[in-house]
Amino acid sequence: MLIEKSTIEISEQFSGFDRYFLRPGSGITGLARDLIDWGAAVAALWEAGGEAWAASLGDRLADPVAAGRRAELEGWLGAVRALPVIPTSVPDFAGPAITVGRPSDATDAERRLIHDRLQALHPWRKGPFDLFGVRIDAEWRSDLKWARVAPHLGSLAGRRVLDVGCGNGYYGWRLCGAGAGVVVGIDPSLRCLAQHLAVARLLRGVSGGSRPFHFLPLALEDLPPGPASFDTVLSMGVIYHRRDPAAHLARLRDLLRPGGQLVLEGLVVEDPATPLLTPGNRYAKMRNVWSIPSPDRLVGWVEGAGFRDARVVDVTPTTVVEQRRTQWMRFESLADFLDAADPSRTVEGHPAPVRAVCVAVR
Ligand code: SAH
Repeated sequence: MLIEKSTIEISEQFSGFDRYFLRPGSGITGLARDLIDWGAAVAALWEAGGEAWAASLGDRLADPVAAGRRAELEGWLGAVRALPVIPTSVPDFAGPAITVGRPSDATDAERRLIHDRLQALHPWRKGPFDLFGVRIDAEWRSDLKWARVAPHLGSLAGRRVLDVGCGNGYYGWRLCGAGAGVVVGIDPSLRCLAQHLAVARLLRGVSGGSRPFHFLPLALEDLPPGPASFDTVLSMGVIYHRRDPAAHLARLRDLLRPGGQLVLEGLVVEDPATPLLTPGNRYAKMRNVWSIPSPDRLVGWVEGAGFRDARVVDVTPTTVVEQRRTQWMRFESLADFLDAADPSRTVEGHPAPVRAVCVAVR
């Protein structure tokens, strides 16, 4: 597999990559030194973007984490470290649930421990996961979005894929399952990092080496410029949270090689009288939704950012089958965000959520 080859090549070329990543201190690289396969991560990043890019990512990740966030992160990392590593032959990234281990691989006591440590990382927004029979029924049935997106990705065999705003990494594993050569996921949420590391820790029980999925707790704006080398860049569920969608699209474009594919997913409005909804105060109780375009306007944004062949390949209303409160996300969810008397409206009176997938070529 690509990643194993490059790990070897790079460690032969340069045996001191700990200079870039394995740093002590209160940055992510210091706090999570034992939980991440940094050697494989450096190799993948180096291969994707070259030495200078990998090195500057190492610098960002060594920046000290602010005290409040750090205390939270240390608690979550403690929960991850308490997870048992249980030998198993089962990783399965191709089905609806990201699966590690069979129920029969673990004892009841181990399963209880897994359940309790994973609950300490609540809320789980994206899933499902099935970990030694512990079923994480997350708020979102992310498998439903995957089914809408996957038919439009083309062959991923050997490809370098970047997933911007990857959440806890559900889609990163699905991309591996679909044959991607290297997947890099970025998301600034440290809870998402911890959830990803929990899954990665349970995967240590599987023999057969490292997985080509690397999660970096960074925002898109934190990435150093360049390197225009990814074959596929996904941004799903992020753009309507950005005040400046054009700037977001420009950064995505800079990371794609010429001819590479953009996959952009987000909220849209279908009312012909409203080419762009700017909710102002709140949308479905979210404070950080800035603009929701019509499907045509979305295509216009993408073309305006210099992509070609932009087209919307799917438009689907979000239902309470896809997004709902569960044992793993016990806060309010879609049913609470819709007007009880008229579920075609949000509680604020806006059109209820509809999501679109747009693909384009750099
Ligand atoms: N892509 C997943 C998750 C969407 S939720 C999906 O489609 O289901 C949106 C995610 O974007 C959150 O996890 C949030 O932490 C992340 N995010 C928010 N701002 C971001 C930014 N500037 N760069 C990268 N990720 C960001």
